[in-house]
Amino acid sequence: MLHNTITPIHKRLEDYRRLFEIARDLASTLDLDQLLERIVAAATDITEAEAASILLYDNTSRQLYFQAATNIEQPTMRGLVVPLEGSIAGWMVRNRKPVRISDAHQDPRHFDDVEQITHLKTQSLLGIPLIAKDKVVGVLEVINKRLREFSDTDEDLLLVLGAQAAIAIENTRLFQQSDLISEFVHELRTPLASLSTATYLLLRPEISKQQHDQIIHNIHSEAMSLNALASSFLDLARLESGRILFRFSPFNLTDLLYECKDVMQVRAQEENIRMLVDAPDNLQQLEADRDKIKQVVLNLLSNSIKYNRPEGSVTLGGRVIDGEMSISVIDTGIGIPAEAMPRLFEKFYRVRESENKADGTGLGLSICKQIVQGHGGRIEVKSKAGHGTIFDVRLPLKPKGIKYDTQKRQTLR
Ligand code: ADP
Repeated sequence: MLHNTITPIHKRLEDYRRLFEIARDLASTLDLDQLLERIVAAATDITEAEAASILLYDNTSRQLYFQAATNIEQPTMRGLVVPLEGSIAGWMVRNRKPVRISDAHQDPRHFDDVEQITHLKTQSLLGIPLIAKDKVVGVLEVINKRLREFSDTDEDLLLVLGAQAAIAIENTRLFQQSDLISEFVHELRTPLASLSTATYLLLRPEISKQQHDQIIHNIHSEAMSLNALASSFLDLARLESGRILFRFSPFNLTDLLYECKDVMQVRAQEENIRMLVDAPDNLQQLEADRDKIKQVVLNLLSNSIKYNRPEGSVTLGGRVIDGEMSISVIDTGIGIPAEAMPRLFEKFYRVRESENKADGTGLGLSICKQIVQGHGGRIEVKSKAGHGTIFDVRLPLKPKGIKYDTQKRQTLR
C-alpha cells in the first residue's frame, strides 16, 4: 500500500504543503463554509485523527454550534448545540486554553449528546480555542488519533490551522455584515423619503379632510412595510450567518398544509381566490424543522395570493417523489417574465411589473431558499407570464446525518 511507503519526513512536508495551501486560499476566498471544510479535512489528515470539527461560540445563547465537521452533514449540524458549561469545547472557550485528553469518557467535562447522533465514540481528543481580535470565536477539535496519542507537534500544527480558521471567520463575518447592511440601508431610503413627504404635506394648512386621511393611511402602510422589512431582514441575516438552529422533528406535512391554508383564508377570500390542498392524509412523515417549513409554505402561499388574479386559484401539494418530499405551490396568477427568473432569489429583488400589484420586501424567496438549503433540499420555479407559477420544494425525508467514516470511506447510514 502506498501509505506504508510514506516516511515521517515526507508526511511532514506534505503537512506543510497543506498548511501553505490553506493560507493562500484564505486571502482569496470569501466562502466561509468551503474554507472551514478544507480546514477540518486538513486537520484530520495532518494530525492523523478520525474526525475534526469547528464549533462557533454564540455569546447570546452561551452555546457552541457546529459550523464544519468531517463526519456530519450540514442539516444535522444545524441542530447540534453544545453548552458552554459542562462540555470540553465550552471549557476551552472559558479558559482560552487547548485541551489534550487520551480518554474523553473519563473526563468530567465531556458532553456526550453529540456522539448519539454521529455514532462516533470519542476516545482521545485534541482541541484549541479559536481567537480572533482577542475574542474567542469558537474551537477546533480533532478526535481519535489513529494508532498513537496526540503529540506536541499535533498541537502546534492545529494551532496554525486554528489561527487561519479564526481569521477566515472574522473576515467573512465582517464582509457579510457590511454587504447586508449597505443593501438594507439602501432599501430604507424609499419608504423613509415617502414618510418625510407625507409629514411635510400633513403640515400644510390647505389640505382637505379627505387628503389628510389619505396621508395618514399612507403613513400607516409605510410603517407596516418598514416593520415587515426589519423582521425579514433580521431573519435573513440570522439564517445567512448560520446562527439559526433547526429543530428537527417528525411531522405530518398534510396537516401543516391545511394549517397554512387556514392562516391565509381571510386574505384569499378578500381577493376571491380559491385555495385547495392536494396531499394524502396518510402522507409519509417528514423529519424537518416544522416552524421553518411552515414559514416557507406561508411565504410561497402569500406570494401566490398576492400575485394572483381575482377568481384565481392556488393548489398546495404534498407528496413523496423519488424518495424526497415534494411541496408544491401552484397558482393561476400573473406569472413571472422569463428575464426575471435568474434574479428571483436575490435579496430585495422584485419584478418591476408586480411592484405596483402588491406590497413586498423582496426578501421572502431568499429566506425560503436559505431554509430549504439548510435542510439539504432545493427549491425550483416554473412560470409562464400571464398564466401562472409553480414553486416546487424538495426536501430529504430525514436530515442526512453522517457523511462517512474517514477511514472506511463508506456511508454509515
Ligand atoms: P416579495 O416580498 O416582493 O413578495 P419575494 O422574495 O417573496 O418578495 O418574491 C420576489 C418577487 O418574485 C416578487 O416581488 C414577485 O415579483 C415575484 N414572485 C414571487 N412569487 C410569485 C408568484 N407566485 N407569482 C408571480 N410572481 C411571483
